[in-house]
This record gives sequence, C-alpha cells and structure tokens, in this order.
Amino acid sequence: MTLLTESDHGLYCPRGRFYVDPWQPVERAVVTHAHADHARPGSQAYLAAKAGEHILRTRLPDVASFQFVEYGSTVSMNGVNVSLHPAGHMTGSAQVRMEYRGEVVVVTGDYKRQADPTCAAFEPIKCHTFVTESTFGLPIYRWKNPQAVFDDINQWWRTNQQAGRTSVLFTYAVGKSQRILSGIDTSIGPVFAHGAILKANAAYRRCGVELPEAGNILEQDKTFDWSRTLVLAPPSARGSTWLRRFGNVSMAMASGWMGVRGIRRRRVVDRGFVISDHVDWPDLMQTIKETEAENVWVTHGYSAQVARHLQQQGVAAKVIKTEFRGEVEEAESP
Ligand SMILES: [Zn+2]
Repeated sequence: MTLLTESDHGLYCPRGRFYVDPWQPVERAVVTHAHADHARPGSQAYLAAKAGEHILRTRLPDVASFQFVEYGSTVSMNGVNVSLHPAGHMTGSAQVRMEYRGEVVVVTGDYKRQADPTCAAFEPIKCHTFVTESTFGLPIYRWKNPQAVFDDINQWWRTNQQAGRTSVLFTYAVGKSQRILSGIDTSIGPVFAHGAILKANAAYRRCGVELPEAGNILEQDKTFDWSRTLVLAPPSARGSTWLRRFGNVSMAMASGWMGVRGIRRRRVVDRGFVISDHVDWPDLMQTIKETEAENVWVTHGYSAQVARHLQQQGVAAKVIKTEFRGEVEEAESP
C-alpha cells in the first residue's frame, strides 16, 4: 500500500486513515494552514499546528474536535507517525511529514523561504516523496528582498502624504496583511485596517505574534483627515462604496501576481508591490533539491511546467490535481 494517494476528497493516507487539507468533509483532516482553500469546514476531527490555533479557530468556529500539536512532535495515526513542521507561509502554517516503516512523505501545503517575522521559518525535511505547491513555479518569478519591497511601500506612502492622498493598500486579510503591518515603517503616519484584517490581527495576537497597532476605520468621525494614513484592505474592498470615505486615494496591491504586467493592468491599481507568501522559482528548485526526494508530486500552480522541468533534470515528477487556489483569490477576486 502506498503511503499517500490522490482521492476525490484530496490527498489521502490510507494506512493512517486521514486526509491532508481535504476539499470535502471527512472523518479525519490534517490541516496545513488557516487559509480558506486549505482549512475547510465540516470534517469530524482536525489536527493542526498549535502555533496557529486561534487563527484556525477563527476560520472554523464550529469545529468541536480539534487537536493542536507543537511543531516537530509526533502523533501516531493508525501506526503512521505524523508530525508538523514550519512551512514559513503564515503563522501556524505546517508541512505534514508522515512516516511508516521507514518511508517518508512530506506535503508542503503553501510555503516560502523568505524571512517573515510573523511566522516560524520553513524547515527543509529529507523525504522519499515530496508533495510541493507550485503557485509561482515559472522562472520569471523571482522575489526581491522583502526589505526592498517594504522600502518601496514606505516611499509610496510618503509621496501620497505629500500630495494629500490617502494610501490604500489591498492585501489578503489573513497572513499577508500581518506580514506587511510588521514590515512597514509605522513612524510615517497612522495605520488603519478594514474589519476583516482587524479580526485576523486579533487572532494573530492571541497566537503570540506581536503586531503594530492598526486603527478601526469605523471609529473615526466624519471630519477625520485620512490623507496621512495608510489603510490596509482586502482586495474585495476595491471598487466598493467603502472606499469613498477616504477622499482622494492612491490604490496599490501587494501580491506575487503584481510581477506580471498584464495582471497588474487588469487590477486597475496605481501601484503593484511584488511580495508573496509562496516560494519563487529559485527557492522552489532549491527546496526540492534539499529534500533529496526521489519522487516529487507537484500541485497547485504551474504544476505541468514544474513537473516537466524536473523530469528533464532526471527527477521522477508528476502532476497531481488540486482545488487549492493559492494566491488567485488575492489577485483575481473582485
Ligand atoms: Zn495559503
């Protein structure tokens, strides 16, 4: 029996009788992280990393049977040793390592290798089979140093202040917003955030992550001068009447997709900041090498291209189907 198989409900470990990030309700789910496409409601029991407990509880408030474990500690699931290891994607994000009679399989979920003060750094794990995401799995995707991106955001904000414009930055509410909040220079001016982001900030703080303050927009009176502020908002707020209160605005989007000019144009924002919580091409290739895996299964993103590239390098690689969306919802949703 192979340790991990594909199924209609997602990746399944038949020996351990559990699924990893199942798409449909199942008996036992191991969850890599609290993004909506990975942490889905309706399953009977969930196992996840303790570091992200409160973010996951906010995402899945009605779940009765949660088991939270420390990174690196082993749980036996019907004889399969399961442990969770930092994925560096967001607070509490985990790779799932499973081992049975010496065979080791690792599922990454979403991951990145860049520094992120809001979560534990990705830990490469040696394995026989490595199941990797490939959201940005093309050689054109190469991220700048995060500090250089934060410098650009700070400069854009200062320029807007001088022109009397409110800086509105669209960024995914859970994960990316907190990373940006912890990276920007908050001495430039006051920072405010949309309610969805404030809710995620509170969950992050309950998980022990320190974040600068972001004010509640709804608590400001009508005469408030927004022009010195930076406002963080989810991409869905773009084009809504919610934006009207800020007067003259400059709009920007922070996403890995901002590196592609066509997508940037379609978003109709004034500025795009290329920052992602997924690996770029060099880090993807480096990580696969570090795992020393004989088999690489490639899932959501440019999986066909990545698998073909690996095959050309002599790696046994295959594409597996997925319902994960990666950063698509950040860039493509209205
Ligand atoms: Zn994610």
